Amino acid sequence: MTRRRDKKRFQGRNGIPTGAVAADTSKQVPNNSYDPPPNWYIDKPFTCCECGREDVWTAQQQKWYYEVAKGSLFATATHCRECRNRIRDARDEQRKKSEAGRSKAND
Ligand SMILES: [Zn+2]
Repeated sequence: MTRRRDKKRFQGRNGIPTGAVAADTSKQVPNNSYDPPPNWYIDKPFTCCECGREDVWTAQQQKWYYEVAKGSLFATATHCRECRNRIRDARDEQRKKSEAGRSKAND
């Protein structure tokens, strides 16, 4: 009987593909679809929707996004690192401006 051993070899350690990061499904946001939640993450190449640059959403980033930031399981990366930084900087700038305006009004 070698069937069990063969299966193990195909799936790798802990039943996840080589290079994938194991997911903690108990930390994921509940998923309302019929598909089971992913129990592992793997690097996912994507094209930035803003500048068209190719980037990779790494397995570690996905784990953080779904389990720590509690992002939706339907969400996926759409912006490359540079565009994300630019968007974040613009948002910070906006916040600083509105905070400055508010403290001025309180004086
Ligand atoms: Zn971009």
